Amino acid sequence: INLHSFLADWSEELLFELNKQGVQFHSHLQIAEETKISIDRDKIRRVFSNIISNSLKYMNKSEKEIELKAYEARGQLVLFISDNGQGIDAASLPYVFERFYREDPSRNSVTGGSGLGLAIARQMIEGHRGSIQAESVKGVGTSIRITLPLIFNEEGDRI
Ligand code: ATP
Ligand code: MG
Repeated sequence: INLHSFLADWSEELLFELNKQGVQFHSHLQIAEETKISIDRDKIRRVFSNIISNSLKYMNKSEKEIELKAYEARGQLVLFISDNGQGIDAASLPYVFERFYREDPSRNSVTGGSGLGLAIARQMIEGHRGSIQAESVKGVGTSIRITLPLIFNEEGDRI
């Protein structure tokens, strides 16, 4: 798929959807127009939606903000989805990609969820030879960093 148009379309939809919910949304896309990536559009959409829905769910502030940043580096897509939500405890951070893991399930029970979203995301991203990491500061926010390989031809040019 064409990465530039995929991300441009998606962020336009997000801007509309999130602003409707009173959430500030900013995107910074630095992707060349010809860049392609080998990925299933619907699957990657589901992964991204889950990360966004986490940002909305684990948000305890009145001024909600979500930021999308994407650029190319060393033949990879590097993408960040960041929020200014409640953040994740440093002690919990290594476990958030595990199946059924939910930070403080008793307190979280009100927000619902099965603890599978990020585990599915990791499976999907790693299945495409990419990587996914979480960075977070409790009380400040969370940032999910995803990398995925781009498609090149034999000369090393983008195709
Ligand atoms: P599901 O996605 O299956 O509905 P879930 O949201 O609990 O359930 P994950 O998406 O895998 O499961 O997230 C795992 C845990 O990581 C969450 O329960 C939450 O404690 C923490 N977490 C994930 N994203 C954020 C975020 N943006 N801010 C704060 N905590 C988060
Ligand atoms: Mg989730």
